[in-house]
Amino acid sequence: MPESAERGTKVGVINCGSSSIKYEVFDRKKGIKLVSGLVERIGGAEGLMKQSVLQADGTFSEQVYTKRLANHRQAFVFIAKIHREKRIIQEDAELFCIGHRVVHGGELFREPAVIDDEVMDAIRGLIPLAPLHNPPNLLGIEAARMRFPGIPQVAVFDTAFHQTLPPAAYRYAVPAELYDEHQIRRYGFHGTSHFHVAREAALHLGRPLEELNMITLHLGNGASVAAIREGVCVDTSMGLTPLEGLIMGTRCGDLDPAIPFHLIRQLSLSVDRVEEILNKESGLKGICGFNDMREVQQRAEHGDERARLAFDMFCYRVKKYIGAYTAVLGRLDAVVFTGGIGENSEGVRSAVCTDLRQLGITLDERRNSSVTGKSAEIQEAGAPVRVLVVRTNEELEIALQAEAILEKSVRRGDAPCPCLAQT
Ligand code: ADP
Repeated sequence: MPESAERGTKVGVINCGSSSIKYEVFDRKKGIKLVSGLVERIGGAEGLMKQSVLQADGTFSEQVYTKRLANHRQAFVFIAKIHREKRIIQEDAELFCIGHRVVHGGELFREPAVIDDEVMDAIRGLIPLAPLHNPPNLLGIEAARMRFPGIPQVAVFDTAFHQTLPPAAYRYAVPAELYDEHQIRRYGFHGTSHFHVAREAALHLGRPLEELNMITLHLGNGASVAAIREGVCVDTSMGLTPLEGLIMGTRCGDLDPAIPFHLIRQLSLSVDRVEEILNKESGLKGICGFNDMREVQQRAEHGDERARLAFDMFCYRVKKYIGAYTAVLGRLDAVVFTGGIGENSEGVRSAVCTDLRQLGITLDERRNSSVTGKSAEIQEAGAPVRVLVVRTNEELEIALQAEAILEKSVRRGDAPCPCLAQT
């Protein structure tokens, strides 16, 4: 393993889009975030970099820079230059590793992978399954490897946590060849978040994750549910793509699969147009015109009937999944709310938990309205199922997982890529 595994104290986390790079730097010893930032408009006339940097007094200061950045490589060169000038990272050797968010790991990756050429090829091979996401993720890895050649890089996959689903949960009832030859199956996403909040919930409850049955509800702009039995994910609501499952900001979630054919035949829409409608113009936005839950709730409270319907449909769908996954798990110990909506909307939590007493799920409205941002329990005293609100932190989880897999491979003295499943 590179020497830096011995010496770096900082961990970088990268989430790369086609024209943007989101990044964080954590101090692995102190367990704190030092900086988080976003570079946008890469390839445009003028790139924009915004970051908030931890100060000595514990507050964060905002910094903004502009510069033309032709490509992701130039963006990394620019980020590193600013970090040197601002004494955030003065030498590359201060980095222990860089963790990259990669959306789709298919069936190849059940855990994070230390990146080498073989892993790059494997992620490239999965592009047909995630044509919108894996290419920019790869672009970011390639550019970061060029700019930080001596620093170990790790891919952390959104799908990995869900690779434990049994076939009865992950297969679709379509001809078997579609799975055998084209890998058409449920993969699930948001895995890093579901795992992070499940572990945090177990910590909060003071019990081993391996003993707990949980339903984790990641309710943000994108939204998904996971059923976790004794720490192992056994079902999840997103599918081959993140379009399936819950109602989201602009995505439809579950749908009669014949609806696209109907739209194509009866309305003469193109396949691309239908895809756009279901991904970008549906969900809360499609139902009431607004994809931001705060706005939906405000309008619903002021008598907007479409907004009320959007709110009701959103909560109803979550509730249906709780019922289904309670049946899947048999015994339920905890329901965990997370994501921008799950963490902040007491109205959604209240509507979702209404009339679930039969399943052991209750809500204490006083506790529900006094959640402060720390992990909190909001069920009625003595209720059999604990209902928790837990803040997600996907970036920290990527940093922790990247570090852990590197330390594991250092201990084993492995070849760089012990994580690639044998195919
Ligand atoms: P993403 O999936 O983009 O990471 P987030 O997890 O940040 O999204 O969640 C964004 C959603 O959280 C938006 O719909 C936003 O309206 C909602 N949200 C944030 N704060 C509140 C709040 N106080 N009440 C209701 N919804 C909220």
